[in-house]
Amino acid sequence: MLWLGEFFSLFFPATCPACGRGLFRNEGVVCTVCLHHLPRTGFHMEHDNPVSRVFWGRCRIEAAAACFYFGKGGRLQQLIHHFKYRGRRDIGEFLGREYGNDLAGSPLFRDIDMVVPVPLHPRRLRQRGFNQSAVLAAVMAGPLHVHCDDKALVRTKASATQTRKSRWARWENVSEIFSVPDQDTIRGKHILLVDDVITTGATLEACANALLAVEGVRVSVATLAFTGQ
Ligand SMILES: [Zn+2]
Repeated sequence: MLWLGEFFSLFFPATCPACGRGLFRNEGVVCTVCLHHLPRTGFHMEHDNPVSRVFWGRCRIEAAAACFYFGKGGRLQQLIHHFKYRGRRDIGEFLGREYGNDLAGSPLFRDIDMVVPVPLHPRRLRQRGFNQSAVLAAVMAGPLHVHCDDKALVRTKASATQTRKSRWARWENVSEIFSVPDQDTIRGKHILLVDDVITTGATLEACANALLAVEGVRVSVATLAFTGQ
């Protein structure tokens, strides 16, 4: 007997959001070929890597890594686009779980106590329906055997104009807008701060500084993609 999902898939086969090819029944959200070709960084196994260097001289980060290199026009850009703007939460859940497993196997991320996503402004959250970083953070927490707290950090002001500003101006622009509503929930913890993409690191830096202001907190960073070299 066919399950209902299998019955429908006979007529509407699921396609890979990165290449458009029909998925085999044993394939998850992304086809095996695309999954194999996604440009992994391996940064989670190196303490000194291009993502950790983003924070040098700026704020105290224990360990930092990104799962993939972000190439324009590539498969990962397709996946992130469908995830963020086409409502495909399942793509974020699939890739986030993959990366959570990678991080769980790294000595650098072994003593994480909790996972916290970069918050989205409430207005943007209403437009998009979900916070992409919170989707990633929730699934990454699983393999690390810790909980995800998407209320630990809040954003109080939108920063829509930041893309046209210099790094310093961006830092000023975002530095005031993240806060920790309840310090007791994070005191003394090693927090894994999660975002979808890291470019200049300005937003993550502002978030990290808000967390680091609480006694005994240590911060590490993990993102799905890295746009730098
Ligand atoms: Zn594919």
